[in-house]
Amino acid sequence: MAVFTSEEIIQATGARLLKPAAPVSFSEVCTDTRAIAKGSLFVAFKGTSFNGHDFVGKALEAGAAGAVVSEVRPEYEGLTAPLFVVADTLKAYQNLARFHRRRFSIPVVAVTGSVGKTSTRNMIATVLGEKYKVLQTEKNFNNEIGLPKTLLQLTPDHEACVVEMGMRGLGQIAELAAIGEPTIGVVTNVGKSHIELLGSQENIAKAKGELIQALDEKGTAVLNGDDPFVRQMTALCQGTSVLYGTGMDDAVRADAIVCDEQGVRFHCHCFGSGFEAAMPVIGRHNVYNALAAIAVGHLTGLSIEEIQRGLASYRGMAMRQELLHIGPYTFINDTYNANPASMAEAIRTLDLLTKGRKIAVLGGMGELGDWAKREHEAIGRLVAQTGLDALITMGNLAKDIAAAAQAEGMTAVYTTDTHEQAARQLQALLQDGDTVLLKGSRSFAMEKILPYFERK
Ligand code: ATP
Ligand code: MG
Repeated sequence: MAVFTSEEIIQATGARLLKPAAPVSFSEVCTDTRAIAKGSLFVAFKGTSFNGHDFVGKALEAGAAGAVVSEVRPEYEGLTAPLFVVADTLKAYQNLARFHRRRFSIPVVAVTGSVGKTSTRNMIATVLGEKYKVLQTEKNFNNEIGLPKTLLQLTPDHEACVVEMGMRGLGQIAELAAIGEPTIGVVTNVGKSHIELLGSQENIAKAKGELIQALDEKGTAVLNGDDPFVRQMTALCQGTSVLYGTGMDDAVRADAIVCDEQGVRFHCHCFGSGFEAAMPVIGRHNVYNALAAIAVGHLTGLSIEEIQRGLASYRGMAMRQELLHIGPYTFINDTYNANPASMAEAIRTLDLLTKGRKIAVLGGMGELGDWAKREHEAIGRLVAQTGLDALITMGNLAKDIAAAAQAEGMTAVYTTDTHEQAARQLQALLQDGDTVLLKGSRSFAMEKILPYFERK
């Protein structure tokens, strides 16, 4: 846990001590009054629907030994604990996290990209876990609060740290990188997620490139060489760049790729060595996630055997191309989220997985703004061209997928508006041995179709 003295807090945040008390040491940093650790420092955040300043007294009662605040309220008069006054409590929290991160000279690996951040981060952490004690981002804590929260968990036991960095606009990755000061930056790809907010793929590339720009001359960029936008980021790197992919000049390269029900296997060429890589998860995109993990493993001193063991022990993530066998049917539960790149990948996975009948049940893809119609239609064409046996769409956004699939000549196309309708339609179509892909943006919660089959 991150222990801070009063002096360190002032040094890290530039705070003014409102209630001078004898120097205190704080056991850790807390932001949630429902989970206050004894002797901790409470940081009062201001959200849109809540204000942590309302809970300072409560936090102190619950055991906090002091608080960081930006509002000085009359009701704080009676409090005896030290109060650290700053202009912006979130900034102060981030500054504490950076201060703490600087206490450790260990590899800090940051992963960004349009899709596959969580999967890649988890795969890297799994591989590094063969040699090191690794701290990694929990869940999807990849923003201006989640990243500092993760860094504040660093202890002297940790030998490596792997964090995910997300963004919804230009400048945000630069801010995150300034907090985490990564030694290795990984960019998975530049797709169209958040294009509504960023306006163009060039801007998305610029935003992701901020991670690479933030690396110093000792830093290493690990870049997907198969993505033209990412490949160009070598030019932004002051340190060393390592490309991974399927190109002959990539330092970490996959060939002889096999993707089937057993998982993903390929031959890896890694800085002049060659070895077999295998993971018990489906989906060709995992080749890329594995190559990133292999590159980071190599850069941080793992042996080939350790890298291979780490990949073999990777178990995938719930709701991300998760393979489920329900009765005589196989489902690919990929319902965590969807955007054009991951939708296309999922359709490809469905196609490669089985020689049996293939059905896609698709919800819409959110946050595409003006690109929505075009991108949904592209998915519809892909479904038809891939030769899937049936397509069921759910909701209005996804109707453009259905229309484009029909226009491309596919006949078994059904549109529905609710989970129940989609499930009923699927029940009417299903035959033993079929494989079904369930996917859509988070807001469509396509996993709600599963219970209709589990109950059978
Ligand atoms: P978010 O922005 O929601 O945090 P993320 O970038 O962390 O997403 P994941 O949660 O790892 O991404 O995966 C999202 C979806 O993309 C899943 O359907 C997953 O199977 C798919 N996916 C994972 N890795 C890749 C990849 N390298 N290329 C394309 N799709 C991928
Ligand atoms: Mg994520």
